This record gives sequence, C-alpha cells and structure tokens, in this order.
Amino acid sequence: MRTIRLHDTYSGELKQLRPRDGRKVGIYACGPTVYGRIHVGNARPFVVFSLLARFLAHEGYEPTLVANITDINDKIYDAARPAGRASDELAAEMTAHYIADTDRLGLGRPDHEPQATLMVDEIVALIEALIEREHAYAVEGDVYFRVRTLPQYGALSHRDIEQMDQGEGVEGAALKQDPLDFALWKAQKPSEDTAWDAPWGRGRPGWHIECSAMAEATLGVPLEIHGGGNDLTFPHHENEAAQTLAARGQPLAQIWMHNGMLQMDAAKMSKSVGNITGLAEVLDEFGRDALLWFFCEGHYRQPIAFSPERLEDAARRVERIRDAGRRLAVGDSPTALAVHRDAFFDALADDYNTPRALAAMADWIREANSAGGPVGASHLREMLTVLGLENLLDDDEGAPDEVVELARRRAAARAQRDFAAADRLRDDLRARGWEVRDGAGGPELIPIGP
Ligand SMILES: [Zn+2]
Repeated sequence: MRTIRLHDTYSGELKQLRPRDGRKVGIYACGPTVYGRIHVGNARPFVVFSLLARFLAHEGYEPTLVANITDINDKIYDAARPAGRASDELAAEMTAHYIADTDRLGLGRPDHEPQATLMVDEIVALIEALIEREHAYAVEGDVYFRVRTLPQYGALSHRDIEQMDQGEGVEGAALKQDPLDFALWKAQKPSEDTAWDAPWGRGRPGWHIECSAMAEATLGVPLEIHGGGNDLTFPHHENEAAQTLAARGQPLAQIWMHNGMLQMDAAKMSKSVGNITGLAEVLDEFGRDALLWFFCEGHYRQPIAFSPERLEDAARRVERIRDAGRRLAVGDSPTALAVHRDAFFDALADDYNTPRALAAMADWIREANSAGGPVGASHLREMLTVLGLENLLDDDEGAPDEVVELARRRAAARAQRDFAAADRLRDDLRARGWEVRDGAGGPELIPIGP
C-alpha cells in the first residue's frame, strides 16, 4: 500500500491520506445540477474522481464514491418555466440523461448518487441544528446562515471576509441580518411549482446545505476527500464547510481536492457563457477511450484546453496503445520492466499525477518493444485498468471501434428506454456485420457468420 498524498485546497499543501477507519476512504464529489444535458466539462470531475477511486482500490484502500445529483435548484425552476414544463419532470428527465451520458464513459456508477429531493428530511434536520446553535435564523419563511458566527469562515477559499459576495443578488437582501449571510432555505415563491414542509414554513433548501446534508448522510464526517471543480471553491464549498463545522463541530472533509476547468478559447466552459459541447456529442464524435486519455493527459489541478484537434490526437495515442498491445503476449511481464510500472503508480500516489503516469507507461511500452520478442502484457493491463482503459488490450480480434461505439450508443438508448433508437442502432450494427447479444456480463458483439 503506497502512501497517497493529495493537494488540499484548505491547507494549500500536499496532505497524506489517512482514513478514519482502516482502509475505508469516503469521497464526495459534487455532481451536476440537472437542468439541461451535461457538457463535456461536467464529465471531468466524474472521470477524475471515478479514476481516483479505481487507483485507491488498486492500492488496497476501500473507496466509497458519492456523487450527488442536485435536483432542487433555482436553475431548474428557471429552465422549466419558459419551457412551460413542470420543474420536477424536467429534473427527472435530465437526471436520466445524465445517467445515460455518463454511463457511456464506461467507468461504472459511483457507489451512491443521492438526490436532494430524497434527502429533504436530512437537510431540514441539519438546518434545525444550525438554528439551535444560533448559526442560522429564520425570517419570513427563509432561513439564513449567520456567517460572522464562524471565525473560520473564508479559510477554505482563502478569501478576506470583507471582499466576499455570496452571489445571491437582491434575493433576500432585505431579510438578511448581514449581506454576508447566505440562504439555507427559501420560502416558496408563486413562480415555483415544488415545495416541502419545514418547521419555519413551506419552501425548499438552498444549494449549499443540500451537499452538506447528503455528504454527511452517505459518508459521515469528517469524510476523507471532498472533491469538485475549482469553480465551486467559493461560495459553494466554503459554505458546505461552514455549515457542517458550525452544526457538528467537525470539519466536513480532511482533504479538499479541486479539479481545474476545461477551457474553450481560454474562457471557462460552462453553459452560462454559451460554449456548449455536450458530453454525448463529444462521445459520438471521438469515443470514450479518446476522451479518457485526453483527461489523463492533463494534471487534474490544471485547466485543460478543449479542442477537436486535441481529441483527435488523443484518439491516435489510444490507437498506438492498441497496436502496442497487439505485439504483446498473454501473461506475466518481465520483472525488468517493473520499474516503469512502479513509476506509473508512484506518480498517481503523488497528487494523482496522470501525465507523469502516462510518461512512465510510454517508457514501459518502449522497453517492451525493444525486447526482441513479445513480452507478457500483465503490467500494461494493470496500468490501463486503473485508467479505465483495459479494453484497449481486449479488442484485438474484436469489433472495430465504430462498431463498439454503435453498441455503446445502443446500450445508452436502452438505458433511457428509447427502444426505437436502440432498434435502429441494432440494424446499423447488422448492416456492418455484427450482432449484439445482451449477455450476463453486458452486451457482447458477435460477428455475423458468412
Ligand atoms: Zn456540492
């Protein structure tokens, strides 16, 4: 078991992972707000934390990955209203899309995917604890967190309390005791079509308290690793940290891990600035292998520039790994190559440095190629498995990539219960000479005989 060090935003330093309980590592990664299809930038934290959990399992830890689904939020009301739709129906539809789109990454599901709508009791209980400890106050059906009661406030995002803006605009401004305070609960407005009962009145929770409650309910506190995009550090994570510390007297997390943004034309890629590239579209165009490789080429903390050229380049690199795999034999790799395999995992143990790990894998392949004959593939399989790319060694005699991609799209269509689309994709596969069979281990591609 390697010593794992990860960069902690709170301390600004590398911090050794020290589980509370034996080998168990709880990871809470903030998930999507389900008001539209997710873009490829939203896939980055999903990939980073899914792969981190794989690496920790490889090292002998027992990770539990939680990625919440924010299905109560202003953005959902704002998207549903002009479309003339019920907000809960829109959220349910976008949740199904999110599951289907991220399924296509082929990394499995997080262990828990709590939804705010199913955790309102826990959320209300946490707000009650904050009111009881006088860190929060109810006013006209709203509840606000009293920021100045917590001296540690601002320590996570390293911001001066006098320079902060909660981003809540004029909403509730007249009810707040201090402009710095932020909403934990909002009374129902006439324009909102969902609401829940609470001791201070009917309404719905604010975004930040949802995560504090879902994290505590699924993993307990202080959980080992809290993750998410670095655009969430303030106010979202600062407020999550504040709520849990104030209510429980315990930090929410031991390590705060933040991934960099995916950038398009150097601007932050997000729905609000309009640079939309849907995850589903990117997967249609380049496939999941190339996308995973592209993410791994960048250090998780750094921004990555997104461009079709870089995705095409990643697809070519993935193809080279496939080629290298074809030159290998089944079975154990020579011990002389273990130094590169070890360098790969050492790089991941050192703040999850995937670019350095890929360089070590390239060294392994170079040396394997110069061995004068086929060497055993076991090291390469071990490395690729931790990156979710073990399939690169499996497709030798198998279906070409575009057929595999069609089969993935068919599986995604079936998961969404879109059987008409699934049938069309099955016909496409047949036209290319492949039959798809739904076996116990998932769909299998079988060549149609002559
Ligand atoms: Zn969150």
